[in-house]
Amino acid sequence: MSLRIGHGVDAHRLVAGRPLRLGGVEIPHGMGLEGHSDGDVAAHALAHAMLAAAGAGDLGSRFPATDPRWRGTDSLDFVREAARLAAERHLRVESAQVVVIAQAPRLAAHLAAMAEALGAAASAPPGILWVTVTSCDGLGFTGRGEGIAASAVVLLASVS
Ligand code: MG
Repeated sequence: MSLRIGHGVDAHRLVAGRPLRLGGVEIPHGMGLEGHSDGDVAAHALAHAMLAAAGAGDLGSRFPATDPRWRGTDSLDFVREAARLAAERHLRVESAQVVVIAQAPRLAAHLAAMAEALGAAASAPPGILWVTVTSCDGLGFTGRGEGIAASAVVLLASVS
């Protein structure tokens, strides 16, 4: 079996007047993530990691912010497209983890739903994609509540 690892990182600014979408789940917060799409950093980090592992480019080149097609789009579509490109290369998700870096809101109650939504979009079997959260001790832009960041690692395996 051939294995390929990918890593993705993203961050978006928190602004008033937008819904907060993280890992495909809408979370009550009173602020949301700015972005050309729905701003879902967890989905972006995962899609980036999948594209990298598949050798299929990166998020910026696949889904440019200048393309009106992606305006306000559900970012799970980026993950679905990354899964399609991986499948085209005879690769599937073997294991994946997404870490969300946020001071607020509290995300613990939403992690399972986020893992389920991201896993389904990635065409991953249940139970192999995990979402965790850290506050990074209140440091930096996430600590000040200016934005939310995410990091993802993905292992793709060749389909025989
Ligand atoms: Mg992004």
